[in-house]
Formats: sequence, structure tokens, C-alpha cells
Amino acid sequence: MTDDVFDVSGKVTIVTGGGTGIGADIAREFCRRGAKVLITSRTMDHLGPVADGIRSAGGIVEAMACDVRQNDQVEAVIQKAVTTWGQVDVLINNAGASFVAHAHDISPNGFAAIVAINLNGTFNFSRAAAKVMMEKQTGGNIINISSDSGVYGAATMSHYGAAKAGVINLTRSLAIEWARYGIRVNCVSPGPIDTPGVKEVLWPTPELQKRATDGTALKRFGTGPEVAWPCVFLASKASSYITGANLQVDGYAMTAGDPASRLS
Ligand code: NAP
Repeated sequence: MTDDVFDVSGKVTIVTGGGTGIGADIAREFCRRGAKVLITSRTMDHLGPVADGIRSAGGIVEAMACDVRQNDQVEAVIQKAVTTWGQVDVLINNAGASFVAHAHDISPNGFAAIVAINLNGTFNFSRAAAKVMMEKQTGGNIINISSDSGVYGAATMSHYGAAKAGVINLTRSLAIEWARYGIRVNCVSPGPIDTPGVKEVLWPTPELQKRATDGTALKRFGTGPEVAWPCVFLASKASSYITGANLQVDGYAMTAGDPASRLS
């Protein structure tokens, strides 16, 4: 036993989108702190190198491919955690995707695909994990990675903004419904974070990068670990009276809704 209220050691933790960017940093941070982590995303090509790196640093990690939109695959990931480690303590719904387009140029299929990944995927994983937490009576923590786009709207990413707003609202509903089972559900909403996957899509030029960072009070991009640390807080006893919250990790976003005017 430790008296460190931030302790997450031994916690069985699932990180979706754990093979790249913020998700990989969350997985590494939890493993560094002694958690048992299952990372998942669509491609083992992403997951394998992250798992290898964690193992060579002495961490405990498993990896499994899964598309968050496919509920049978989601259930299989949850079962893998239960078979391997007996329970699920922490779920971090980090998988997400977007593309840049004016709202009137987004097809209904394109809109639905972005909602399916960001919002339905979060619901699918939350539901499957919560059922195990209820059945085993362990309680647990669910942390949803939303976005400032879900708070302020997102010009040129209206599908993404709407889906991420849904994630914040879903967080609140689940927090209320599942409090009685000892499950806390919280959201982390990043602002501009320097990850390869997102930077090349949203801020490909130095000019767009400057516009994005000038829109924050701290005048810089955040980093993956700076999103991972609040996740440790929300997964630990240190946040025991916090549920249904949306923690904006954004250097204080001052230009709401028009993150970088990506299209003229
Ligand atoms: P990223 O590297 O592109 O991460 C997205 C992850 O989601 C990838 O690992 C991807 O892996 C996975 N993924 C995508 N579609 C999936 C699907 N259908 N099923 C399962 N996994 C899927 O970008 P990131 O910057 O680290 O973003 C991580 C999270 O933070 C996302 O939810 C994003 O919306 C949010 N966020 C990021 C920023 C930012 O500035 N970077 C700001 C606000 C919010 P596969 O390709 O292997 O499936």
C-alpha cells in the first residue's frame, strides 16, 4: 500500500488509440507508474513499436487491434483485459479522427464516419468496460479525450466539433448514471497538442502553427505528456470527488471556434 493519492500502480488500464501521439504518451506514462496497460487501435503497425518500447523500459503492456466502431471487436478487447488481468480499472477513450473541410463540402457519410469514431466509439468502449466494472464490483475510472473543438465549435471541422461536444455531454450522463457503481467518468479536452498525426493535418505550415499557438495564453503547443498527467490525476484517488468534469488542457484557448482558419 502507498499513501500517494496519485498512485495508479497495478491498475488495469485500457488506452484506445494507444499506438500514436497522445495515446502512446498516456500508455507510457501509466506504465512508467506501474499500471498494467492494454493499448488498442486499428493497426498493429502502430501498437507494436509502442508496446516494444514500454516492455524494454520494464513496463507491463499488451496490444490488440480493434476498430472502436465495431462493437464485437470492442468487447473482445475488454475480454482480453479481463482474461489477462482479471478486471478493468481504467478506460481512456483516446481514439479519434477528423478531416478538414467546409461544412457544406462534408458528405453525410463523411460526417457520420467522424461521429462514429469519436462519439460512438467512446460509447461502445465505455459501455463494455462499465459492464465489467459493475459485474466485478470494482468501480473504476473512465476518461474521455474530447477537444476544445467540442466546447467552442470548430470551423472547418464541424463534424468533429459536434462529435466531441457529444463526448462531453455523454461524459456527464454516464457520470450521473454510473456513480452508484463507483465509476467516475471525466473528460479531458486538449487544445493544440504537438502530435505528428494532427500537426500535419491541421497546422502544416509555420504560419498556421503560429496562428494556433498565438491563440493560446501560453503561446505554445502542448505535449502528449501534458495530456497524460491530468489523466493520471483523473484515474487516481487524487480526483476522488471529481466526476462529470471536463478539464480543458489547452494553455487557455483565447480564439474559440476558429482554431487556425485552416481554409480560407
Ligand atoms: P493521432 O495520433 O492521430 O491519434 C488518433 C488515434 O486514434 C490513432 O492512434 C489511431 O490509430 C486511432 N484511431 C483512429 N481511428 C480509429 C478507429 N476507428 N478505431 C480505433 N482506433 C482509431 O492524434 P492525437 O493528436 O494523438 O489525438 C489523440 C486524441 O486527442 C484524439 O481523440 C484527438 O481527437 C484528441 N485531440 C487531439 C488534439 C491535438 O491537437 N493533437 C487536440 C484536441 C483533441 P490507428 O490509425 O492505428 O487506428
